Amino acid sequence: MRDPRYDILFEPVAIGPVVAKNRFYQVPHCNGGGYRDPSAAAEMRGVKAEGGWGVIFTEQTEMHHSSEITPFIELRLWEDADIPAIARMAERMKTHGALAGIQLAYSGINGPNLYTKEVPLAPTALPIRTFTNDPVQARAMDKADIRDLRRWFVNAAKRSQSAGFDLICLYGAHGFGIFQHFLSRATNQRSDEYGGSLENRSRFVREVVADLRHAVGDRMALTLRVSLDETIGSLGFSNAELRDFIAMNADLPDLWDLAHGTWEDCSGPSRFKEEAAQEALVRGLRDLTTKPVVGVGRFTSPDVMVRMVRSGTLDFIGCARPSIADPFLPRKIEEGRIEDIRECIGCNICISSWHDGVWVRCTQNPTAGEEWRRGWHPEILRRDDEDSALVVGGGPAGLEAALTLARRGFQVTLAERARDFGGRLLWESRLPGLRQWFRVIDYRLGQLRKMANVSLHAESPMTASDIRDFGAEHTVIATGARWTTALCGANEIPAGRLDGPRTFTPDEIAAGAEVEGPVAVFDFDNYYMGSAIAEALALGGYDVTYVTSAGGAQAWGIMTNEQPLVHQAFARAGIACRTMEIVTGFDGKTLELAQIFSGERRQIAARSLVIVGQRAGGSTLYDELVADGPASVVLTGDARAPGAIAHAVYQAHRTARELAAGSDALRVRRDAPFAMRDIEPFGRAAE
Ligand code: SF4
Repeated sequence: MRDPRYDILFEPVAIGPVVAKNRFYQVPHCNGGGYRDPSAAAEMRGVKAEGGWGVIFTEQTEMHHSSEITPFIELRLWEDADIPAIARMAERMKTHGALAGIQLAYSGINGPNLYTKEVPLAPTALPIRTFTNDPVQARAMDKADIRDLRRWFVNAAKRSQSAGFDLICLYGAHGFGIFQHFLSRATNQRSDEYGGSLENRSRFVREVVADLRHAVGDRMALTLRVSLDETIGSLGFSNAELRDFIAMNADLPDLWDLAHGTWEDCSGPSRFKEEAAQEALVRGLRDLTTKPVVGVGRFTSPDVMVRMVRSGTLDFIGCARPSIADPFLPRKIEEGRIEDIRECIGCNICISSWHDGVWVRCTQNPTAGEEWRRGWHPEILRRDDEDSALVVGGGPAGLEAALTLARRGFQVTLAERARDFGGRLLWESRLPGLRQWFRVIDYRLGQLRKMANVSLHAESPMTASDIRDFGAEHTVIATGARWTTALCGANEIPAGRLDGPRTFTPDEIAAGAEVEGPVAVFDFDNYYMGSAIAEALALGGYDVTYVTSAGGAQAWGIMTNEQPLVHQAFARAGIACRTMEIVTGFDGKTLELAQIFSGERRQIAARSLVIVGQRAGGSTLYDELVADGPASVVLTGDARAPGAIAHAVYQAHRTARELAAGSDALRVRRDAPFAMRDIEPFGRAAE
């Protein structure tokens, strides 16, 4: 039963002409599939409806062909032919009484139009703002362009209505939507009635809202997603100016949707941003309007959610990542199953997926994005087998394999060699900022400990003969991987080894290696380990130099929104950062470096070197078992192929789903390619 403390989260709240059944509001978020995979996108949102969300939004929907953000894959609503695909999504969203929302996006200064080759339109003629620094400039919109854009919004709104949506979100946050581009001095340098004063910069959004109210406002709610702060003070749209804007336009939308002014700030990783990190920027805004307010903050704690509502900060609890990690979050709170919530760890692997234009991947929820493609439900597994299974290894992969097998009905025994379960996360979660990552272990262990068909054994090393004697019908080996000092011979890194004294791997640092300073960290793994070790050593009092062949620290961190924050952490900790260099020699006193393009060499003092490069998987235990006969034995997780924790969890989940399940479990569904048909040339579509 629901704890009465959380009753307030389940109150219905009106948004203009519609009513949300509760305060759980899945804000618009990308998924990496968009227009390419409409069936998978619809099912992913449908599972959230089943999980109890009161409001569910699409990702950003490109509402006209003159503004698109290829190579990122979002939804498209360019013409009537696009309606059926998104109508299916609206239908799935509404299956359990949720309101269905569509976010209409015109990307303006963010849309390079690489696919359509249209000249981008923006309030002011400026270089396009993209991650890839495309050499494209926008043309400044003249009055006719502004009239056209207003008409395109009306057409998109009418299409949204005919597709069955209840709400329209006008996108003007994260630096990505045209409404922000008009509101911000940084992107609006016009001298006409659309530029200059805040009132003038507000004109375009007021006009569009008035147009849409006239067109669809009797049955659809209009929400406005605005930037909380562009963090460039008076050069852009500041939090102070947002407060003036809301005070001037208090009742403009039916709901104020508050998100940060930059993408990186809004979806910050837990390593650097706590839950409810935007609270200070949001506080007090609700007093400026009679309309409800939604805000985000990677909310996973129902107590924090209640505090947000009771303090008058928010009316709706906006969630993107927490809804991916656990689509059933509202339902679990409602059913009093708080301990069953699969809490988001804030790693931002999901965000890397849509930066890559591939289906969302989640460290905590391996079924994310696979609801339709593989038919994986996050909560329900076929209980189709009562075989026995022995899982060897109690890290993220072993725990996930054990949990999934147990849910399938297997009699599961989990054997872990160490004193504690947790594998790599026992140490990694103690690195600076990574504490919340241990939720991967806590959630799985907590679930396993409640199951009668599970037996957990720590301090239980297993040999091949132990496993044979144990006699389980299936054995899953998930014994992880180990870091090596080998150089990889790729990506500018030479092959070979650096074998000076005090040359350590991350595993040796974890085991308490005797490091002498100054210390250098040579990172060609490019994910969090190199930068996190550098930070840990610096915080431990060492003089640290971080070396990478890439152009920035933790190069892959650009995909998880971490990279700028890593550089800021380095500056705080006094870590010297040497980019586009490789280590070519180390003798225990001196580190020799070479610039990757010019070959120019230099030397710096270093008494210890930590190489964060590659890991070796494999398992001699597995090899022995396989060599001995046809018994069912599977290698999974990092032992099969080292990767991020998300990869290990996904592999283990798949292993456990498919164990003894037959070959059809391997099928992945995909939508048929977009139907071939005659299409009007761009610009001549019936508008
Ligand atoms: Fe949260 Fe990480 Fe999952 Fe994203 S990938 S939803 S940040 S746990």
